[in-house]
Amino acid sequence: MKASFDITRLVRPNILALEPYSCARNEFHGQASVWLDANESPYNAPYNRYPDPLQLRVKAALSRVKGVPSECIFLGNGSDECIDLVYRVFCEPGRDNVVAMAPSYGMYEVCAHINDVAYRKVPLRDDYTLDVDAMLAAVTPSTKAIFLCSPNNPTGNAIDVALIERLLIDFDGIVVVDEAYGDFSSKPSMRFKLRDYPNLLVMQTFSKAWGSAGVRLGMAFASKQIIDLFNKVKYPYNVNLLTQRYALEHLEKIEQTKAWTSTILAERSRLIAALEQLPQVVTTYPTDANFVLVKTIDADGIYNYLRDHGIIVRNRSRVEKCLGCLRITVGTSQENDAVINAIKQYG
Ligand SMILES: *Cc1c(COP(=O)(O)O)cnc(C)c1O
Repeated sequence: MKASFDITRLVRPNILALEPYSCARNEFHGQASVWLDANESPYNAPYNRYPDPLQLRVKAALSRVKGVPSECIFLGNGSDECIDLVYRVFCEPGRDNVVAMAPSYGMYEVCAHINDVAYRKVPLRDDYTLDVDAMLAAVTPSTKAIFLCSPNNPTGNAIDVALIERLLIDFDGIVVVDEAYGDFSSKPSMRFKLRDYPNLLVMQTFSKAWGSAGVRLGMAFASKQIIDLFNKVKYPYNVNLLTQRYALEHLEKIEQTKAWTSTILAERSRLIAALEQLPQVVTTYPTDANFVLVKTIDADGIYNYLRDHGIIVRNRSRVEKCLGCLRITVGTSQENDAVINAIKQYG
């Protein structure tokens, strides 16, 4: 539980003062039969109409699935939009900074550089656990946010909830917890702690367990105050009509998603067990995600060999603390057999 917390102190002054764009779909809510307010074409329904800027029907459905009130949900063009908004809302270019664990997801750093925000990396321990003291030591008076990824990409492990809570309590800025792979983890989501921590922002996505990377839909869960700031800064129609319709339909198929997830988890165990048998594999790291980081005897050689046989994995061997490592996504059982057999042939 965090005692008092004043969010306005963290927000960029220009964003606090911003009078947001008022689009036609925002100005009038309710029922009407003649829509002549937005210079749309009267032809080609339903695509002729601008989509709901606040995606209220999708949020109502998501609210039931996720157990988070609608006003605490933000929807974006992928999690990437949510990441970018953290910088645009809170970080003054050329002045503020964020602290992040390393290695982690590359977009946090790219977005920081695009927004001219300093990115202060704190190495994970050798076993890929979070070094909370080092994270707090990296905080300066200009640190607006801490980026955490749990389960982490590319290491695969989830962060201990008690460690995340220590940061939420001891750091008086935004703590972002990216749970893109949360559906594959046995650890509980941090979104159930939103009421205890007004500085918590949890990100999830339709791109992984929900099988919908192509539609570009990311979610952020946070206090209403933070969500209102995100809504103020985002493009008015950031989630298009096709994606909103798709999401409404897809959210009805929770059982399908759960079935895919349990198949992937079973395949993950099988893939890891098989990889552990291979002389080309030094070790596999514990994973709570739909991929496994594998330390090999020769990452570049195996990567090239797999590529030449039509199998693409991610070469992470030049990433800090990942020497010799490939990141392998869990696929179908045939795909997993293909990668296992190909590595077996190498060398
Ligand atoms: C894949 C991934 C995402 C998903 O990003 P989208 O823009 O929603 O597709 C987010 N965070 C991490 C760490 C990821 O690996």
